[in-house]
Amino acid sequence: TRSRIAEVAENPETQSLSLHYVDEDGDYYEKEFGMVILAVGAIPPKGTKELSEILGIELDEYGFCKTDAFSPLETTRSGVFAAGYIVSPKDIPDSVAEASGAASKAATMIHSARGTLVVPKELPPEIDVSDQEPRIGAFVCHCGGNIGRVVDVPAVVEHAQTLPNVVWAQENMYSCSYDALEKLKEQIEEHDLNRVVIAACSHRTHEPLFQETIREVGLNPYLFEMTNIRDQCSWVHMHEHEKATEKSKDLIEATIAKSRLDEPLQKTKLGVTPSALVIGGGVSGMSAALELAAQNFEVNLVERAPELGGNLHKIRSVEDGRDPKEFMRSLIDEVSKSQRINVFKGSQVVDVEGYVGNFTVTVDQGGVDHSLDLGAIIVATGGTELKPDEYLYGESRNVLTQLEYEEKLYNGEISVDCVVMIQCVGSREEGRPYCSRVCCTHALQNALETKRRNPDANIYVLYRDMRSYGFDEDLYREASEKGILFIRYDPEDKPVVEEKDELHVLVKDPVLKRTIRIRPEFVVLSSAILPQEDSGALARLLKVPLTGNGFFLEAHVKLRPIDFATDGIFVCGLAHSPKSVQESVAQASAAAQHASKILSKDAVEAEGIVALVDEDVCIGCRACDVCPYSAIEYIDRKITLKEFDYYSRKANVRMAQCKGCGKCAATCPRGAIKMHHFTDQQILTQVTALAHAVTGGK
Ligand code: SF4
Ligand code: SF4
Ligand code: SF4
Repeated sequence: TRSRIAEVAENPETQSLSLHYVDEDGDYYEKEFGMVILAVGAIPPKGTKELSEILGIELDEYGFCKTDAFSPLETTRSGVFAAGYIVSPKDIPDSVAEASGAASKAATMIHSARGTLVVPKELPPEIDVSDQEPRIGAFVCHCGGNIGRVVDVPAVVEHAQTLPNVVWAQENMYSCSYDALEKLKEQIEEHDLNRVVIAACSHRTHEPLFQETIREVGLNPYLFEMTNIRDQCSWVHMHEHEKATEKSKDLIEATIAKSRLDEPLQKTKLGVTPSALVIGGGVSGMSAALELAAQNFEVNLVERAPELGGNLHKIRSVEDGRDPKEFMRSLIDEVSKSQRINVFKGSQVVDVEGYVGNFTVTVDQGGVDHSLDLGAIIVATGGTELKPDEYLYGESRNVLTQLEYEEKLYNGEISVDCVVMIQCVGSREEGRPYCSRVCCTHALQNALETKRRNPDANIYVLYRDMRSYGFDEDLYREASEKGILFIRYDPEDKPVVEEKDELHVLVKDPVLKRTIRIRPEFVVLSSAILPQEDSGALARLLKVPLTGNGFFLEAHVKLRPIDFATDGIFVCGLAHSPKSVQESVAQASAAAQHASKILSKDAVEAEGIVALVDEDVCIGCRACDVCPYSAIEYIDRKITLKEFDYYSRKANVRMAQCKGCGKCAATCPRGAIKMHHFTDQQILTQVTALAHAVTGGK
């Protein structure tokens, strides 16, 4: 509801809140609500000023850390980098990306010292448990009061003691504390335990810690099982103590039943080729390539166009006094001079084989194929501006997109007395529901530049919502002060552009409540940012997903904005979603950091919990092609029968790519796939034990 709020008052009788406001039509309302939520402004974190003095870095006029438009992670002091909220208000994905990017900047400075302080952990040889009867230790955690306040922990311990093969059971206040972990090792040795079950919290957060601990006394990490009686019992049944206790007993009973069948598993080590492929030679691609080269890695930079630079060739608006063209020239210059970057211009990727640490990629350069061995891939293919099919675009030579207008303006090809800019052209509508994010700022920059060149110019911005986020709001304020007029339009009642002898724009003004007619020299369309046309083909080669809008889809929208679900492949810049040059540069550094984490290792470790295909049972039906990590390949195996050769298609799991999710095993109609650590027998035993525990064997 567009409105002006006059007052929030509490009704003394009902304690509800009454909101007094006036809507767009000038009508006055008074409405009661149970709760009023204020979307408050963001301010710099407490202590920023003191910290800046200690570090000797400058802050901006709002008290956030000052950075450069084209070096968004660098403070005013060399060697001090910044990321996240301290730079400007931002959401989680941008903060996560900037954090990785800042780490990359730091890593670049100290890369020559990489690995020099690492002390390899000495581990005892693994105990061979193959001939031993299961001797299970069960440990039940109070998690402070998190579990213990609801669940009767001693009763769960007592129950565990009665279960077959359990030779030791005890309670712990905090199972993950240093003392408890030391005690766990002692108990394993003292009672000769060869399986450990801990009833505590989440696998996701704590399983690796416990696995590492049991390995320190010679037990294979996969002889460990965990059950989550905190989230699944004490938290969800916090008002039902007895039932929460009974459920905890049932869960530990089922987990112990499964643990009896646990077998030792080994992680496979795979070598790494310390070289990267960056696809796309725009600002993101060049920034990522330079960052990796500065860390001493070889980089292959593939650009489809005959020249590097991408969209930077078209951007002219100056940011913070920095000229994008100059920035582009300096990037191209650095890339060309780098000894470690092999540039393939006019080229494209035509084949991708392999997995994290060991990709083989074929690049077609004007009909000549290059085969490259690589450890990691960064997708930085950029985006493109929509060529609209409305508002007389393509019919009138004076209807332009923002990039086209900018080019003519900065080249001095046009002098402008009156211009109308229309926002959200092709964005935020059916078929393309996303906001192109940077076009409001872009329009403001071009409107202000028009005013700078002709202070008497009449400029109208027809908008749905002005979204010049963050500090770009300064541009909006400046534009308003300079007399640029903003008129809101309704998507159901879009402006109309006509050309008779001159251009006419008709728009319904929501304040005047009447249609107004403007006769501009130019109509400038803030058209949507699109993904590159061939994104789909590249996505298929890399076996990574796209969003419904055709941009590359990250592994997790908040926490893994740079990664794909497939290991070793990363994304940055416009290929991922519409964003500013600044945001693209920060994301490129982040992608470089994620790639360097792989390239700097001698080997990557593949999971021990992987799927295994029994080729004698597999009929090659490809139903298991559901693997979300593209870990399954199909191989034609030769069978010789009565002197004749036959070929039979068989599924094969590439261990390095398998994440052990189990989807293939659950899908295979022949039961040809065995999931290590979650075999059919283990799952059935666990479910049977649970059913038995719940029903009391009835
Ligand atoms: Fe519309 Fe502005 Fe978003 Fe562009 S940035 S789509 S113009 S709201
Ligand atoms: Fe073979 Fe099963 Fe995959 Fe079919 S689903 S190809 S039978 S492993
Ligand atoms: Fe793919 Fe999951 Fe099967 Fe592994 S277990 S091959 S990741 S579906």
